[in-house]
Amino acid sequence: MSRQLTMQCGHCRHVANVRSSREMTATYREVTFRCTNDMCGHSWVADLIAVRTTSPSACPNPDVQLPFARNVLIRTIVHQMELALMDAAND
Ligand SMILES: [Zn+2]
Repeated sequence: MSRQLTMQCGHCRHVANVRSSREMTATYREVTFRCTNDMCGHSWVADLIAVRTTSPSACPNPDVQLPFARNVLIRTIVHQMELALMDAAND
């Protein structure tokens, strides 16, 4: 199930829907919105940019270099410490 991306119109504050989008890079997309208020009619382009990883990919693309979210860093450090402790216990 997917939900459609929406944004509030900056002028009249009604919901705006995506009219079209265009992939610029693997982590950057231009999105064109249109206000649903017929009395307003505002249309604009917004940037959709991936900014950080919240869960690492199981099939990572080496061209995609995103910083990890803080919770991912903590989870990764804890996991690495657990692995190091297991290795030390097996020695
Ligand atoms: Zn509007």
